[in-house]
Amino acid sequence: MGKVLIIGAGGVAGVAAHKCAQNNEVFHEICIASRTKSKCDALKRELEDKYPVKITTAEIDATNVPALIALIEQERPTVVLNLALPYHDLPIMDACLATKTHYVDTANYEPEDTAKFEYSWQWAYRQRYEEAGITGLLGSGFDPGVTGVFSAYALKHYFDEIHYIDILDCNGGDHGYPFATNFNPEINIREVSAKGRYWENGEWIETEPMEIKRVYDFEAVGQKDMYLLYHEELESLAQNIPGLKRIRFFMTFGESYLRHLKCLENVGMTSIEPILFEGKEIIPLQFLKAVLPDPASLGPRTKGKTNIGCIFQGVKDGKPKNLYIYNICDHEECFREVGSQAISYTTGVPAMIGAALVMKGLWQKPGVYNVEDFDPDPFMEALNKWGLPWQIDENPTLVD
Ligand code: NDP
Repeated sequence: MGKVLIIGAGGVAGVAAHKCAQNNEVFHEICIASRTKSKCDALKRELEDKYPVKITTAEIDATNVPALIALIEQERPTVVLNLALPYHDLPIMDACLATKTHYVDTANYEPEDTAKFEYSWQWAYRQRYEEAGITGLLGSGFDPGVTGVFSAYALKHYFDEIHYIDILDCNGGDHGYPFATNFNPEINIREVSAKGRYWENGEWIETEPMEIKRVYDFEAVGQKDMYLLYHEELESLAQNIPGLKRIRFFMTFGESYLRHLKCLENVGMTSIEPILFEGKEIIPLQFLKAVLPDPASLGPRTKGKTNIGCIFQGVKDGKPKNLYIYNICDHEECFREVGSQAISYTTGVPAMIGAALVMKGLWQKPGVYNVEDFDPDPFMEALNKWGLPWQIDENPTLVD
């Protein structure tokens, strides 16, 4: 049906490339382009050994708009799937605009020098994408991504109105290291060391980092401590789910992770302010990333499961209704299938699905949209087909 240009060759891109190669009815050709071309070439060799698929590779600096435009013009993809870092969203969106090519990503834009993310920068492209007749699909990972699709699905099929959403992200996986992050350490640490925030009655309520803690018993994982964080889908869902009164996001963390993080923070290693080290300017958090285990290397060591989903409370036919829609994913099964742990897997699969729906025209609408702006049904069907089957609990334990 068409060609996809994947930008980035890290943990998530590796899974998405596997999934695009498996879905070769839709993706006839794949180009993988990233900063380090040898990683793209290694991925190409692995995929060509496994699947009948045509793959090209290229070196690209995703901050360089003219180079991105030249690459898109040379490769002529139908869709660009941005799986580099959040700092690269705007240059890649600019290049898609200049070449009138559909755009899909999994994380919202964040300036490199400020630990702050919000959709305003990307939503500002809406009119220009509309005029160019191209679709920009934002946040097609798991969270954001599947959590927005679950919300649209719950609203379409189970509720007249949703009043409360709690998004629960539980990783019960154990990689055996005292401290490592499951996706890009720099992005992960920026996210979890920021202040918490949730939305209630039309207002944002800010908390100290990790101030709000709950304990929850997750199916297939067991009891875990989880902490309230700000997460980007809160911003779009607060706008897009009519009648919503409150939305929160909780993520589980083990004691060892939090203890190490606190210590790293206390000694200044998580700072993004440049410092001079032996005459050279370095950013402590980027240096920390360099010494931590590469998330892509955690695959063979990680055991256990993830359980990620949304608890909805609302009304149907005048009666109160509660519902949990969730997916359970097994780290070791992911590794057997695509050589990666479940965090990259649960992001890479929906990234491929979003790109496929845009490619097939099912999720094409000129402008810039979040996943919950589209019909959730084909996405939900594809999750079952491509490795992230979901379940529904109509009597979930609620979070107080
Ligand atoms: P990785 O760090 O593993 O991969 C990032 C890739 O981007 C690397 O291949 C890296 O190249 C490449 N890259 C970095 N800088 C540039 C540049 N200037 N030009 C071109 N390529 C560049 O990250 P992940 O795979 O873990 O994460 C990828 C994305 O997915 C991130 O945006 C992350 O926030 C998002 N994500 C979303 C989730 C969701 O559920 N929505 C969950 C997890 C992640 P190199 O190899 O040279 O370093």
